[in-house]
Amino acid sequence: MLGVESSCDETGVAIYDLALGLRAHRLYSQAAMHAEYGGVVPELASRDHVRKLLPLLEATLGDAGLRPRDLGGVAYTAGPGLAGALLVGAATARALAWALDIPALGVHHMEGHLLAPLLEPDPPQPPFVALLVSGGHSMLVQVAAIGRYALLGDTLDDAAGEAFDKTAMLLGLPYPGGPALANLATQGRRDTYRFTRPLLDRPGLDFSFSGLKTQVLLAWQRSDQSATTRADIAAGFEVAMVETLVEKCRRALRASGGTRLVVAGGVGANRALRAALATAGARDGFRTWFPRPEFCTDNGAMIAHVGALRLGAGEHGDAAIRIFPRWSLDGLGALAA
Ligand code: ATP
Ligand code: MG
Ligand code: FE
Repeated sequence: MLGVESSCDETGVAIYDLALGLRAHRLYSQAAMHAEYGGVVPELASRDHVRKLLPLLEATLGDAGLRPRDLGGVAYTAGPGLAGALLVGAATARALAWALDIPALGVHHMEGHLLAPLLEPDPPQPPFVALLVSGGHSMLVQVAAIGRYALLGDTLDDAAGEAFDKTAMLLGLPYPGGPALANLATQGRRDTYRFTRPLLDRPGLDFSFSGLKTQVLLAWQRSDQSATTRADIAAGFEVAMVETLVEKCRRALRASGGTRLVVAGGVGANRALRAALATAGARDGFRTWFPRPEFCTDNGAMIAHVGALRLGAGEHGDAAIRIFPRWSLDGLGALAA
C-alpha cells in the first residue's frame, strides 16, 4: 500500500505492507518556506506539494526496491486539511491508481494520527482512550474498535499544538514554535510562573487553551523580558499545558473504566507530556502508547497504514477525486470483519 499525505505543509509518502509492516517512508517539510510568513500560506503549500510529491514518490519506491506495478493500492489523505493541498495528494493518488488499475482510498487524517502507535512494536489493542493533540485538534476519543470512534472531549477554541505555536510566537520564538518552546522550557524553572489549568475546576473533558495564551502574553509584557524570564515563562506554560492534558486523560480513563491510553498528534512528541503520563500511569495503573516522535507529526506512514487496514478489509472508493476539508472523526465506519 502506497500512502500519500498532503493535508498541510508536509509532503509524506510511505509504503506499508500488511504482512511485512512499514517498507519505506519519506517526508518533505515546507516549514522553512512558511517560516518567513509566521504560518502556513495555503496557496504556497499546494504549489510546493505539486513540486515535491512525484520525486518523493519515486524516491520512496526506490528505497523499498519496488516498481509502481508492485503496488496493490494507493491511500491518500482526503481530509481534514487545506483544500488545495488535499487536492494535490488526492488527484495524484487517484491518477496513479487509475493508471495501475489498482484500488485507491481516501483516508481520514486524524484516523491516521490515532492509529500511528500501532506502527510500533507491542501495539495497543482496542478498546482504549486516545488523546489526539495536534496543530488543528485536541480531542479525547473512545476507541471501541478500529474505525469505531466516539468523541469524549474536544477543544472549545485553540488546539493544543496551536496553543504551543501561538505562545511561542508571543515569546518571539521562530516558526514553527511548538518544538522551540518545548526546548526553551527545559532551560526554565517550572515553578516561577504558575498559569491556570484551563477547565480543570469543572467537570467534563473539553479543552480550552486561548485563555492560557493570553495569560502568557500578559506575564511576558509585564516582565523584564530577559532570557531567563522567557525560559521560565515557557516552562510555566508547558507545565500548565501538560498538567491539563494529563488530568483530562485520567478523567477519561476513569469514566470509561479503561487502563489503556494512546497519545498521538504533534504534541505527542512533547517530552514533558510523555514523562508526566508515564508517572501518572505508574500511580493510577494505566499504560500509555505513543508513536515514535517522527510519526507524531504529519507523515505518510500513518496514511499508508490506515489505507492498508481499510483496503485490506475490502473498502475502496469510486474513481472520483473527493476531498473533505472539514470531516469529523466519529462518523467513520468500523472496519469490516
Ligand atoms: P492536524 O493534524 O490537527 O490537522 P497538523 O497536522 O498541523 O494538525 P501535527 O503535524 O500533528 O499537526 O502536529 C504539529 C503540531 O505539533 C504543531 O502545532 C507543533 O507545534 C506541535 N508540536 C510538535 N512537536 C512538539 C513538541 N515537542 N512539543 C509541543 N508541541 C509540539
Ligand atoms: Mg505541519
Ligand atoms: Fe496532522
